[in-house]
Amino acid sequence: MKFSQIAQSIAPSATLKLNAKATRLRLAGEPVIHLGGGEPKSKVPAPALDAAIAHLQTGEVRYTPAAGTPAMKDAIIAYTDRFYGRQVERANVMASAGAKQAIMVALLALVDPGDEVVFPVPYWVSYPDMVKLAGGVPVPVRAAGNSLLPTLEDMAAAIGPRTRAVLLNSPNNPSGQIYDAEYIRDMIRLCEERDVFLMMDDIYHRLVFDGAPQIHCYDYTERSVDDARILVLNGVSKQYAMTGFRIGWAVGPRDLITAMSNIQSHQSGGPCSVSQTAAVAAIEAIHGSVPVLRQELQESRDELLELLSEVPGLVVHKPGGTFYCFCDFRACSEFGDDCTALSEYLLEKVQVVTVPGAEFGCPGFLRLSYCGSREDIREGVRRIRWALDSAGPSTLRIGDRVIQR
Ligand code: PMP
Ligand code: GLU
Repeated sequence: MKFSQIAQSIAPSATLKLNAKATRLRLAGEPVIHLGGGEPKSKVPAPALDAAIAHLQTGEVRYTPAAGTPAMKDAIIAYTDRFYGRQVERANVMASAGAKQAIMVALLALVDPGDEVVFPVPYWVSYPDMVKLAGGVPVPVRAAGNSLLPTLEDMAAAIGPRTRAVLLNSPNNPSGQIYDAEYIRDMIRLCEERDVFLMMDDIYHRLVFDGAPQIHCYDYTERSVDDARILVLNGVSKQYAMTGFRIGWAVGPRDLITAMSNIQSHQSGGPCSVSQTAAVAAIEAIHGSVPVLRQELQESRDELLELLSEVPGLVVHKPGGTFYCFCDFRACSEFGDDCTALSEYLLEKVQVVTVPGAEFGCPGFLRLSYCGSREDIREGVRRIRWALDSAGPSTLRIGDRVIQR
């Protein structure tokens, strides 16, 4: 069978592939510890569930406008007012099947074949493939030395005549780093000067720790939402633990939103109606679950950092947000840059799932998620320590099994 060049150039999402593998192994009764996941394990907020059930019970589950129901748009407007301090109109917002689709549709609306999209390394695993799907050229920008954030000068140097957009994700998946307000401000100015769009992937923006302030990107432009070169991307997946509902959104200039909505009207026809009802309810119950989740994640992060501090040679970058911790394993394993082999070894030997840093542009690193249970975090690090410490005990007990070195 012959497939398109695009199909041939796209790899499956490594994170989703590992999720599926971890689930498969668990269902087969294997004692797998999943430190690879990208979704909180807390229950969906009750108001969202109740709203979804009530919607289903009407027996009316229909198409909605391609860019989302009026109620969904109004919820996004209220969210934008509350968390970004900006009043926007329905024409400035659209809902999608996850932030993933919103990003994809935005790229399809902005990028012609050969156009470039610039983003820092490490980057979320899907960015390069999404840019390629849109016919564009991904331009990852690597920081000098051991830094996990390229300077503004590095980013400016990567923006050329074919650049259509800069894609930022803060707090960052996989590094957990928060890009500070000054960085965001300067990036907004740079994008305005160069007339390129700044796509702000804010999917983790409320999952920040140690009282880090919320960054209001619109505070750093003199322009109106319609004139600014800013597209904000967000969703319910992470903050409300609603990954399976597949609701994300975009906020930006009405012309761009219209172009994106037109594309979406042919692509999926819009997000699921029941999921929109549930997302509206979650957004309206805004005070409930997020601070609790944030506190739990911060405590998990603190415990993980303490446990990891006992792994000799491991270089840990302290996450300021998200539920990921990005670690440089090069000095504590024989695998060097080959983190894919290291990740496979950890899965096979001690049944711990991790995501290879190479998927995010950083060979030699692994991403460890701490959105699971505290028991899983403790057990996962215990097994990793044993697997890396060739001078340690020759056996490891996992439940009633004894693993030999
Ligand atoms: N951006 C980043 C950085 C992510 O980690 C994710 C996780 N899937 C997404 C976007 C997309 O999230 P979703 O499609 O579930 O809204
Ligand atoms: N964003 C999550 C992750 O990075 C979920 C998986 C995905 O959508 O790729 O693990």
